Amino acid sequence: MISIHLKSTSILKILLVYLMAGRLVFAHDMHEPSSYELQEVAAGNFVHVGLFPPHSADNRGDIANIGFIVGDKCVAVIDAGSSLHVGLALKRAIHRVTSLPICAVIITHVHPDHLLGLNAFIQDDSVIVYGHHRLPKQIRTRSKFYLQALEQYLGVSNTDDHAVDATLITPVDGLLSIDLGNRLVEIKSWDYAHTDHDVSVSDVKTGTFWAGDIVFSKHIPILDSNIRQYDEVLEELQNLDVKHYVVGHGPLDRPWHILLREQRGYLGVLLKEVRAAIKNDVSLMDAVNTVGWSERDKWHNFELYHRRNVTTSYTDLEWED
Ligand SMILES: [Zn+2]
Repeated sequence: MISIHLKSTSILKILLVYLMAGRLVFAHDMHEPSSYELQEVAAGNFVHVGLFPPHSADNRGDIANIGFIVGDKCVAVIDAGSSLHVGLALKRAIHRVTSLPICAVIITHVHPDHLLGLNAFIQDDSVIVYGHHRLPKQIRTRSKFYLQALEQYLGVSNTDDHAVDATLITPVDGLLSIDLGNRLVEIKSWDYAHTDHDVSVSDVKTGTFWAGDIVFSKHIPILDSNIRQYDEVLEELQNLDVKHYVVGHGPLDRPWHILLREQRGYLGVLLKEVRAAIKNDVSLMDAVNTVGWSERDKWHNFELYHRRNVTTSYTDLEWED
């Protein structure tokens, strides 16, 4: 788990790798995207599919899948995007779909591509922002580095307006249901998965499961937590009755069980080979370049995140009995 145990320089380095995705993007930010696409994955569940980081200078930081659910009374937004620019683009898209007000914004976890567009939605006092009960602490710990990275690497000149107020978060511990008007939405907090503070969202009416970054599609899974418990969560998700899904990154047209099988396959290789490396006294420096590289051609952005996954699992498993 990298978040709070590492020195600030290490955290910054990791965040910069994470954020490099949109590096050249914000130079073009004064222009509106020519088109903003939404996919209705199930009745009333709309998603904007982000691009795979970081290969395009044109992606404008639009790298995560973010969206919203429309009830009879109001709208719940799920994740706010990398910046105000991305958040505002989603907000405008919502207003094109419905005239109902936004009553909830659910932040699935602290990573900047899901969080930093939040201020686009909170001008209205009636909006309640939900997140894992550990999210406020994560915001306080990491915000400074996220904002530095926005400024330094994404070229956002004034980051003050992106600063997220951790006290805004209504904490979710366990399962919380919100009613959007004839539509119940369940927010569930998980213990250790992609991070130690993920929430998922279920639209009960359509059986649509919004996984945040707990599940990835074609994009390499990113481990910012504990590999063994993450796999247990994925096992639990394999047994869920999921009719439709939204994942944090990647295409949404592939069978749910395939996504989980692929992801558990990757984590299984990582777990096995990291344990072997530790047992055989392979140093972390060597392990990052050898462990799990058979998975290389299966995933987008493998080179960008795989070494970090090895590092996270190695430093965790080193102390295993
Ligand atoms: Zn994430």
